[in-house]
Amino acid sequence: MTRTTAADVKQDYSERERARLTALLEALPTAAALFRADGFAVAVNSRARSMFVVDAVAPLGAQHWNVMLQPFGQPLVDAIRFTLAGRQADTLLLPFGRDGRHADVRVNIFDHDLVLISAVDVTVREQERAKAAGAERELRTLFDLTPSSIRVADVTGRLQQVNDIAVRDHPDRAPTTVRMLWELDAPHDVVNNRPLSFLDTPAMRALSGQVVRGQLLEVRRLGSRRVVEAHASPMHGDDGKIMGVLLLDRDVTDRQQLEGMLREREGEQQQLREQVSHDEQTLERLVEERSRALLAVQEEQVRERRLSAVGQLAAGVMHDVNNALNPIMAAAYLLRHHAESPDAVRDYADRIRKAAEIGAATASRVGRFIRQEPVHPGGDVEVDLSVLADEVLDLTEPMRLQRSSESREVRIVRMFADGAITRGLPGEIREALLNLVQNAIDAMPEGGTLTVRTSVDDRDVCIAVRDTGVGMSADVRERAFEPFFTTKGSKGSGLGLAEVYGIARRHRGTATISSVPGRGTEVVLRLPRQQGATPEPVPEEPAPVQPRRILVVEDHDDGREFLRRILQGDGHDVVAVASCAEARQALAQQEAAPFELMLTDVGLPDGNGWDLVRSTKASFPALRIGVITGWEPHVGTERTDGAEFVLRKPLRAPELKAHIAGGHTPAHSPE
Ligand code: ADP
Ligand code: MG
Repeated sequence: MTRTTAADVKQDYSERERARLTALLEALPTAAALFRADGFAVAVNSRARSMFVVDAVAPLGAQHWNVMLQPFGQPLVDAIRFTLAGRQADTLLLPFGRDGRHADVRVNIFDHDLVLISAVDVTVREQERAKAAGAERELRTLFDLTPSSIRVADVTGRLQQVNDIAVRDHPDRAPTTVRMLWELDAPHDVVNNRPLSFLDTPAMRALSGQVVRGQLLEVRRLGSRRVVEAHASPMHGDDGKIMGVLLLDRDVTDRQQLEGMLREREGEQQQLREQVSHDEQTLERLVEERSRALLAVQEEQVRERRLSAVGQLAAGVMHDVNNALNPIMAAAYLLRHHAESPDAVRDYADRIRKAAEIGAATASRVGRFIRQEPVHPGGDVEVDLSVLADEVLDLTEPMRLQRSSESREVRIVRMFADGAITRGLPGEIREALLNLVQNAIDAMPEGGTLTVRTSVDDRDVCIAVRDTGVGMSADVRERAFEPFFTTKGSKGSGLGLAEVYGIARRHRGTATISSVPGRGTEVVLRLPRQQGATPEPVPEEPAPVQPRRILVVEDHDDGREFLRRILQGDGHDVVAVASCAEARQALAQQEAAPFELMLTDVGLPDGNGWDLVRSTKASFPALRIGVITGWEPHVGTERTDGAEFVLRKPLRAPELKAHIAGGHTPAHSPE
């Protein structure tokens, strides 16, 4: 602190003078103190005693402002010097003390040489002001941070406050009133699509007391047309009167554009979708058309192949039937010449039967091919693969012999296991084996060895047909089971292995091929084993036959004649007729000796055997009827129409006898 040492400073004040000055200070509403220019106190009022630092013990004249005015700090000292230098200082707002108090402090020259310090505690006022300032700062921040334009107008429409964003709305000319703002904006009502009148502006509506929320307006701002969402609300004073309006405009141009764009996109997408769906439909139609055309072509091809296969089959059938008839013919000739030798007769009889079996198998194959169905539905029996294999090899012997020539010989090896028993349709399995043996022989044009081996394990029985022939390439092996796939040209039908495959599947078994080109092929048929199988008792000769009276209806002379002889041979009383009419006549005249059984053919010259069955059953329910047919029945739809049994041609005598004896069906196998 600087000491004032002015020469004219009055050094001493009498008590009276001090008292008079103190009384003067007491009249002031502030804390006040008078100092000599050298800093020593002359008088203080009571307010000053509580606000300044006054030593109550020491005499006042000994107290210096250095100490007394300490709470106000250096700025006050500076102000005093400033004042003593002859310049008028403003009121100072000075913090004092340590608890954040403030005072308005004035420094004045009093009576030429005294310094008057007066101070008012303005802590409360300052606190309020700080609060207000803080609130305003916050508001300002909000004002400036919000992306909307904010304007505050008073009741006269004069704009009092605008935020930064609002300032930018009209960079060239800042509107000062809501009217001017309206002129500059030139607002257009987006929703109603019309210019907005001044009285309809959000500001004017708010001034009339309405609250406007989100009115969409197109306005001229930032040098272009913008879309804003305008909000306006009146501001009310304590007395409820409208003091002004708050206007808030949010620029939604981007959003609008975005939405517009989205809508457009959506439209485009919709278009695209429609286009795509249209294209898809076109494509679909095209694909469908092409597919249909392709299918038609394929169908045509399949038909052609099938037709050619039928042709081949027919040729094959002709060949096989001729082969079958050949030994029959020969045997018949030989029989005539060796009729006296019972052994020879039996031998020829056996050969004839075997040949007939081959013919029957051929016919059955044709039927199967036509209908693609198994021969004997539901006719499951126990089948011994070894027995069957033996038979097949016997059956194919003529073919083998015929195909063998000087240059080639096919050697047969049989390796048969005991108990290779499965359950199934012997006819089918026989056919499968026939196909395999045929293929094996075909595969050995230079001769070789054909090995047929049966085996048994815990679950399955197997039959393997192996040859030492040409073998199959991988490609051929892949496709060998395919129907119509053949490498034999017009000599093959491509149905053999397909049939083998189907038969294996129908018997819940498998067929597999292993083959080495140039070395040979083995096809293995694996079928479920029939556990603990006991051979079904098939009587060598039927039990003593009970003679019956039987009506035979068969238009084929030889067939009728042979049937009659077989039946008569067993002691039956037989009436044989050749038509439906004759049959009905015979039935009508049977009173004296009624028929116990009628055996009828299906294809008759004057009607269908099945019709005859129905009408006969209706008239004579007790009469048993058996149908003998050369046609292949349909699976599961096999008609009986009241017939007790249906037999297929060629007729096997033991089967027929069993049925006549009482409905028992023996295994479908030649004995
Ligand atoms: P196909 O005998 O009428 O040709 P398959 O279905 O029986 O019809 O046989 C199809 C094809 O499989 C034959 O054309 C032949 O190429 C091949 N194939 C079948 N078995 C044998 C085999 N044992 N050795 C070599 N190739 C065979
Ligand atoms: Mg074949």
